[in-house]
Amino acid sequence: MAAKCKFCGQEIFWMKDGRKNVPHELDGGVHNCEEMKKSRESFKKMDRGGLSPEEIAKYEAQINEAANKKKK
Ligand SMILES: [Zn+2]
Repeated sequence: MAAKCKFCGQEIFWMKDGRKNVPHELDGGVHNCEEMKKSRESFKKMDRGGLSPEEIAKYEAQINEAANKKKK
């Protein structure tokens, strides 16, 4: 499924790997950009505090917004 990385804006596609979706670059390699790594780290930190899905969605929206602003 073609998509855009919501962190860096690069074109990627999602492939199921077991139970989770893993982003791949169009040439086939696993996509793993700095922006994504950073957000994963902050997700991990927030997990300990126990975030609700709504709060995570809000956080994701903020990342999207920041990524969009960067492009301009
Ligand atoms: Zn990316």
